Amino acid sequence: MLLLVGGGHAHVAVLADIVRRGVPAGARAVLVTPARHLHYSGMVPGWLAGQHGRDGGLVDLAGLAARAGVELILDRCIGLDPEARVVRTAGGAQIAFTVASFDTGGEGRGAALLGDDPRIIDVRPISGFVDRIAAMDAPTRVVVAGGGAGGVELAFGLRNLARSLAGAPRRPQVTLATGRAGLLPGFAPAVRRRVAKALARQGIAVIADDVRFEGGALMAGSGSLEPADLVVAALGSAAPAWLRASGIATDEAGFLLVDAHQRSLSHPHIFAAGDVAARADRRLAHSGVHAVFAGPVLAANLRAALAGEPPQRTYRPRWNNLYLMNTGDGSAIASYGPLAAEGRWVLALKHRIDKGWIAKYAALARA
Ligand SMILES: Cc1cc2nc3c(=O)[nH]c(=O)nc-3n(C[C@H](O)[C@H](O)[C@H](O)COP(=O)(O)OP(=O)(O)OC[C@H]3O[C@@H](n4cnc5c(N)ncnc54)[C@H](O)[C@@H]3O)c2cc1C
Repeated sequence: MLLLVGGGHAHVAVLADIVRRGVPAGARAVLVTPARHLHYSGMVPGWLAGQHGRDGGLVDLAGLAARAGVELILDRCIGLDPEARVVRTAGGAQIAFTVASFDTGGEGRGAALLGDDPRIIDVRPISGFVDRIAAMDAPTRVVVAGGGAGGVELAFGLRNLARSLAGAPRRPQVTLATGRAGLLPGFAPAVRRRVAKALARQGIAVIADDVRFEGGALMAGSGSLEPADLVVAALGSAAPAWLRASGIATDEAGFLLVDAHQRSLSHPHIFAAGDVAARADRRLAHSGVHAVFAGPVLAANLRAALAGEPPQRTYRPRWNNLYLMNTGDGSAIASYGPLAAEGRWVLALKHRIDKGWIAKYAALARA
């Protein structure tokens, strides 16, 4: 039996492969994931700025699974025994498998890095973030913690918060606290310069310091960032605790260690892709593009594993990937290796790519 754990970006490609080519010979396939839809994070900043509806960035996992003939179990994995080949779920099920693949994404780090406070909304899981923002009263002073591409885009999105959202009466004041690593670590100087300029132009304050709650107040170094009525934690991914506890090979941060075939280093009948995985041969950023590009490779290798054959394909990440950062004001900034570009055309390109990706799977789920 093929068990897919998590309806993430890579497993969407695996489901699509099964829709096109059928369930791998003789196998039963099951997807365990907590919700019927995957929320595509790339469109969330645009949703904040009123460019997309709330459902604009949803992938219909249930529809894809139905079309693929894959059984869908709406539940959450909380334990893995890689030797006995069993997964435990929050709903109390024990699911046995022959070959398993994990694409459950990363977990939030807000509480661990900032401390506990009801004003914190973590961006992971992204669907929880969207639900909480949609339900909250209009914020007036927002702090976004995290200087990566996600934090930057959310700062722009929140600064341009749509009136239709949270009844936003006027544009919130936004501070972006990047941490000591500064703005967009790992991006080219030309990209950082453009983003810094756009932040300044929109009146978004940037603080290159770590933030933390101390005695109920949000502090950056020795200075206070109060008053703040919303603190968005965009601090990267943490590995799920159940993974490390399982005894499967992980990296030092607890992510499932895989080779270039996206196969576990310690258990060859287990595969993983996306934020939950860490490549042993190459350090890769936790980023949706890698989950998306690894998907077809994973699909081919899962087919081979079920047939008792060695892996067919390797995922060779490109050295440079295109990142398109929505600035929330009708424009966007492109980053490709050392190159940067900016303009309305960049946002139009971003919308075309994002909506094209969603439409491809919507058509497949409907067909
Ligand atoms: C605001 C924002 C914007 C971003 N924009 C971009 C971008 O433009 N480009 C880019 O490359 N990256 C972007 N990223 C990063 C990107 O979101 C992640 O790298 C990407 O979502 C990782 O995909 P994934 O498949 O690993 O996991 P996810 O997309 O997180 O999917 C995980 C799936 O597994 C399910 N799941 C979770 N836990 C369990 C469990 N225990 N058991 C079973 N199922 C489970 C979830 O419900 C979900 O369906 C952005 C991030 C943020 C926060």
